[in-house]
Amino acid sequence: MEELNPFEIARKQLDDCAKILNLSDDVREILRNPMRELHVSIPVRMDDGSTKVFKGFRVQYNDAKGPMKGGIRFHPEETIDTVRALAAWMTWKCSLLDLPLGGGKGGVICNPKELSENELERLSRGYIDKIWQFIGPNKDVPAPDVYTTPQMMAWMMDEFSKLTGSNEFGCITGKPVCIGGSCGRDDATARGGIYTIREAAKELGIDLSKATVAIQGYGNAGCNAAFLCRDLFGSKVVAISDSKGGIYNKDGLDLELACRVKSDTRTVTNSPRDTTQKISNEELVELDVDILITAALENVITKENAPNVKAKIIAELANGPTTPEADEILYKNGVHVIPDFLCNAGGVTVSYFEMVQNIDRYCWDVEDVYKRLDDRMTQAYHTVLNASKTYNLNMRQAAYVVAVNRVVEAMQLRGWIKMN
Ligand code: GLU
Repeated sequence: MEELNPFEIARKQLDDCAKILNLSDDVREILRNPMRELHVSIPVRMDDGSTKVFKGFRVQYNDAKGPMKGGIRFHPEETIDTVRALAAWMTWKCSLLDLPLGGGKGGVICNPKELSENELERLSRGYIDKIWQFIGPNKDVPAPDVYTTPQMMAWMMDEFSKLTGSNEFGCITGKPVCIGGSCGRDDATARGGIYTIREAAKELGIDLSKATVAIQGYGNAGCNAAFLCRDLFGSKVVAISDSKGGIYNKDGLDLELACRVKSDTRTVTNSPRDTTQKISNEELVELDVDILITAALENVITKENAPNVKAKIIAELANGPTTPEADEILYKNGVHVIPDFLCNAGGVTVSYFEMVQNIDRYCWDVEDVYKRLDDRMTQAYHTVLNASKTYNLNMRQAAYVVAVNRVVEAMQLRGWIKMN
């Protein structure tokens, strides 16, 4: 059976990289383990007067390069191993983008779709009540992720500020702009990914104005990516999907309509049938398109379906969508994978810009944010591409080599490890 536990996968990827870099066992051991984990129980007063206890986690993986950074997921299937994997990937992500940050991740086991606005507020504040001593602008800075929003970040920042007795805007990123959020943070994950797709298309000689695109996952990242592919490149988005399934139109989908349907009924699958055909998530992954964007959850491309992928580029806007065995198959078949912690690094990059603006108490305009984001993403993409060509590695291995090497150097300079 193929390994599908995200943390085992993250460790396997790291072990491969440790071999390539010839890291000693003790250095590898440090990198294989989170430095700190918080497991908390959060009692929340529900609207009906009862009290429900939610389980939450914050994993602080490695802070050799700076305060830990990473989002908080509110998800019914959250597990500690998923959060550990995501925290490890944040460490490599921040390093790859050369941000002065380490990696962390949070999660709360809950179904936000079943909670009222007031319950969500109490849960957001309750989570901070349990972890606030361990986070802050110089320790660990959370942000939004799957099913968490700028409004939740606002409540969390407010709770942290109350507990510390000062306005700590820099303790959390992804806040609404009017209370210290950054312009351009909303679509930053998608936009950053789009810049890497642009560079990959140049490398492969694909004309994006004639390209077809399928997007698996229609949350913040997937939905923004759809519009950006159409509006910036003129590409045709032929398929999109969410957890309930997907829709397809070979001539291109009406994205505005799909968004309205999604916000009214919570799923794109209720789109009118005259212009769309139903398609399953499994079928979408195997569509004959130029670009496949995976923007949902982990383990979407496995050894079972990897041989059937026809896309020339896979852009991993989600974290962990491809298993290691699938990776090998895709590489052999010549599919150009833009690996997750490169492709989706736009979110944390603009989060970093948000931290910088909070420290300076100054706001950059949106064009400034886009330009800086483009510079960083383009540079990171080419650093990975060059490493992949120089050392004959696939794009994920190359990204690991660059990112892990920098973390090891930081640990060495700080005196945590000695290299012979
Ligand atoms: N949750 C996003 C990620 O996985 C953003 C993290 C952040 O902004 O700190 O990269």
